[in-house]
Amino acid sequence: MMSISSQKIDVVFRAQQTYKSALRLSNAADRIAKLRRLRDVIEKNEDEIYKALAKDLRKSTFETAVTELYFIYGELDFAIKNLSIWMRPKHIGHTLTSPFAKNRIYIEPKGQCLIIAPWNYPFQLTMSPLISAIAAGNCAIVKPSELSPATSKVIHRLIDEAFEEQEIACFEGDAKVATELLKLPFDHIFFTGSTAVGKVVMEAAAKNLSSVTLELGGKSPVIIDQTADLNMAATRIAWGKLVNSGQTCIAPDHVFVHRDQQAQFISAYQAAVKKMYCTDQQKIDPHMYGKIINAYHFSRLKNLAEEAVQLGASLALSGDMDEESHTIAPLVLTDIPAGAKMMEEEIFGPILPILTYSNLSEAIGEVNARNKPLALYIFSNSRKNIKRILTQTSAGGTCINDVLVHISNPKLPFGGVNTSGIGRSHGMYGFKDFSHERAVVFQSKLNFSHLVYPPYPFKNWVLRLLKKIM
Ligand code: NAD
Repeated sequence: MMSISSQKIDVVFRAQQTYKSALRLSNAADRIAKLRRLRDVIEKNEDEIYKALAKDLRKSTFETAVTELYFIYGELDFAIKNLSIWMRPKHIGHTLTSPFAKNRIYIEPKGQCLIIAPWNYPFQLTMSPLISAIAAGNCAIVKPSELSPATSKVIHRLIDEAFEEQEIACFEGDAKVATELLKLPFDHIFFTGSTAVGKVVMEAAAKNLSSVTLELGGKSPVIIDQTADLNMAATRIAWGKLVNSGQTCIAPDHVFVHRDQQAQFISAYQAAVKKMYCTDQQKIDPHMYGKIINAYHFSRLKNLAEEAVQLGASLALSGDMDEESHTIAPLVLTDIPAGAKMMEEEIFGPILPILTYSNLSEAIGEVNARNKPLALYIFSNSRKNIKRILTQTSAGGTCINDVLVHISNPKLPFGGVNTSGIGRSHGMYGFKDFSHERAVVFQSKLNFSHLVYPPYPFKNWVLRLLKKIM
């Protein structure tokens, strides 16, 4: 027997299946009006959004503003400004056999889309693909994360306020709900989450040959070479590692530093942590520092640190761990032994392992020995080294002398490579992932296509002749 929620899912899916044909006819003005409506509803409910993120992740108002709300306003405004250009058919050159044909690429909606989101930036990572889906003229079903329930509830309410279910609908719930949704023949599935679940999603998508965008995770390394400004590197890495308490998909996961500079880097990192996060210069200020999402992830992180120490790692910066408030103060580990789980899985928390190298090839080799990361960061003042690292490695995105900031430019594509992701999001790239580029040829009366029609004997002779001449 079907559960109530799968019956409901079925009703909404069928309604969207019908409505998507009407949506195909929507023009830029229609879609811009929808994006504006969504913006208005978000603006009207800002307080609720701040409260929800404070509840789920203890995000400060400022952090929510910068990493969730204003990020989304930026995506909305960018889409509203550029949508007419993105939607325009592209004019393409002709071929020799059809010199008078008009060749175009028409951009059409994929149709019906499913968006599954994670909990770490629960508002941003649900709304950003939704903006792309709406801009591209699609219907969508959204499944926010069950681990950030306060934000998921607000998202649900905003979607209900801004849209009819036949166009955009939201289903809250866990993996069970996601599994039900994944059985349906969506035209496109946009999934943000772990690599492990990404594989489940792709397998489910394969059954219906739905196209996918997979925004996944992994271990994003930092390479600091000997020419780098260590204080600057430490400050920027500390911010990138500790914003949202390290629960950021593109957070620096671990750092490679030259063995002669390890001590200097650690003291610069400690100083940066104190300056940014400690009000009384001793303790982390919880008003500026987020919490770990839940007890499971708190103990996962605690175990990762404890296991590494038991195996012989040294604590270079040890912060308090408060189980009740799920807070883990910034932690730095050195001398990580081989086999420590910390170097096998994505850390996704405020723990920074530091690895040393004697020459740059070692660091590059270690990066290449792992899966292609979502982000790779380089701190260097040597053009030669930067070029070398860029050409000898692969990553979803890279910042040189900074971290995270590549995500903030909607003109840049965002995404991973293989295990860190497939497809692109943000701005025009997100719009394109939710669109189909349709090749259209308007043939003219005058063309030479018949040159390839049968019968072939004479044409074969001409081909052989041409081959001899050319
Ligand atoms: P997750 O994969 O556990 O869950 C993501 C979503 O998938 C949730 O909505 C969840 O309900 C659903 N889900 C869980 N198990 C499922 C299953 N078996 N079948 C179908 N759906 C299922 O990820 P998470 O813990 O929410 O998020 C953390 C991960 O996401 C990290 O690996 C992080 O790097 C990654 N991430 C990537 C990006 C990116 O843009 N590339 C952004 C944020 C987070």
